[in-house]
Order: sequence, then structure tokens, then C-alpha cells
Amino acid sequence: MVISVIGIGLIGGSMAISLKENGFAERIIGVDVSQENLDKAVRRRLIDDDASLDDAIAQSDILILSTPVDAMKKLLPEILSKLDKQVVLDVGSTKQELNAIVEHHPNRGRFVATHPMAGTEYSGPEAAIPDLFNGKCTVIVDEHLSDADALEKVRDLYTSMDCSITYMDAQSHDIHTAYVSHISHISSFALALTVLEKESNEKRIFELAGSGFGSTVRLAKSSPDMWVPIFRQNRDNVLDVLDEHINQLARFRSLLIKKDYDRFYELIEKSNSIRKIIDKQ
Ligand code: NAP
Repeated sequence: MVISVIGIGLIGGSMAISLKENGFAERIIGVDVSQENLDKAVRRRLIDDDASLDDAIAQSDILILSTPVDAMKKLLPEILSKLDKQVVLDVGSTKQELNAIVEHHPNRGRFVATHPMAGTEYSGPEAAIPDLFNGKCTVIVDEHLSDADALEKVRDLYTSMDCSITYMDAQSHDIHTAYVSHISHISSFALALTVLEKESNEKRIFELAGSGFGSTVRLAKSSPDMWVPIFRQNRDNVLDVLDEHINQLARFRSLLIKKDYDRFYELIEKSNSIRKIIDKQ
């Protein structure tokens, strides 16, 4: 199988490593706006060689679209228009806008919309790591709109990386990712800004940052190039969950002002029930 990765960063590069290592791909071609990223990807052996988008389409069995989600809106219709029997899948974090753009495309069936629930806070080809998807879950979105053979190839691709698969429609996907993943990022960005605003002494931040602060603020290292397009595309769902988050912060604030530590205790205890859900995995 010849696979092209369009956008050879953290996700595309990590997929390239896994698919080459497990033998699913015989050859990996890289396509990217940045020649520097392509050169790094060749040096790190993430890809065998780089090519133009047209050459990659002509030579590939499967194309993986792994650019930021705004770039996908232009690239996906262009790729679909040039496809014959090849399959294209995306790995984007939002689904409704992209799926709507290609809804009536004559080659819509060759596209499979996916979102692997794996990642780190780092970007670019240098951030790509082996086994990123191992034991993780991927969401396949609106699978009934994809051709049966295209769907089967994409399922095989994820299964080869030891990923489990779940299915959702595009609207549910965007709501659930806003509630769990997108709010976590905003919360972490806001926490980093809070600490930077209140504590001007960088040495003190470094000295006092225990593992709690490090793990809570980890996501604030994530790139705005990737996240602003996600918030733009999922604005309404993110606003909905952000309102709830602000309510929760306001509750803690109000209890502290009232010195109602019994109720404060109860809220923390209630929040601890997240452990039962997370630790079940
Ligand atoms: P990344 O590390 O920044 O990689 C994206 C790559 O795409 C970069 O090399 C970028 O080049 C390149 N690119 C940008 N515009 C392009 C275009 N028009 N044509 C070709 N290449 C282009 O980002 P990532 O974290 O891998 O994310 C990629 C996708 O995966 C996003 O859609 C994201 O929503 C999704 N995703 C991310 C995570 C996560 O945790 N990071 C998890 C699941 C899914 P430049 O650096 O020069 O811009």
C-alpha cells in the first residue's frame, strides 16, 4: 500500500511511523506547505520521499489529510475532484463544517471522516512519535456516506495501529469533543494566563510548579495554529460548555467569599467522581 500524508506534523508523522513499522504501508509520501517540515520528515525517516499534491494523489492508494482543520476545507474538495479509486481520510478535530463542504461532491464516497483520540501538546514532524495510537480510540464519522470498500480500508488502517473504533454522526462528534477535549484546552490556556498575570517572577513559577500545575497546564503548550481553527469551527458548542465552566468557577468563588467550606468540600467530593470514569479505562 502506498500512503500519502498531507500535513506531516504530530498526527500525520506519528501515523506514518506506525503504518510503516507495522507493514501496512510499503511506502509513505509526504506533502506539506513547509519544505523545511518535509526535509525534517525525510531526515527522521517519517516519509520515504516528498511530492506535490497531484503526484501524491496519482501514486497513492490512501491519502491521509492531517493539516489544521481550516486548510482541510480547501484541500479536501480539491483532492476528491482528482481521485479515481483512491481513498482519502482526514484526522481533524472538528467534523460538521468539513463534512458539509463535501456533502454533494460526486466522489464523496471515497472520503472517510475520522478523528483519532490521541495526541500531545507538541507540533510538527519533530513531535511525531511511535505508538501514539496504540490502545487509543478513533471516531469514524457519518460512515454511511463512505463507500463500503473505502470504509473497510480505513478500518483496517486503524486496526493495524491497534486502535479501537467508535461511530458518531458529525453533529454528535462536535458536541462531545467540545464537552471533553476543547473545553480542557481553553481551561488550560486560561490557567496559564492567570498564573502569568499574577506571578511575574518566572523563577518562582519554575520553583513552585509541582506535578499538579505541570499536568493541569500541559495543554497550554499547544499551538494556536491548530487550535484557533478548531474553536472557529466549533464555536457554538464550545460557547455552550464554556458557559457551564464559568458557572462552576463562579460557584467556587462564591463559596469562598461566603466561607462556606462544607459546601466547598461537597463540590470537590462530587468532582472526584470523574475518577471512576477515567480510571475504568
Ligand atoms: P501539526 O503538528 O501542526 O501538523 C500539521 C502540518 O500540516 C504542519 O506540518 C503544517 O505545516 C502542515 N500544513 C498546514 N497547512 C497545510 C496545507 N495547506 N497543506 C499541507 N500542509 C499543511 O498539527 P497536528 O497536531 O498534527 O494536527 C493535525 C490535525 O490533526 C489537525 O486537524 C488536528 O485537529 C488533528 N488532531 C490533532 C490532535 C492533537 O492532539 N494534536 C489530535 C487529534 C487530531 P506548518 O507547520 O508549516 O504550518
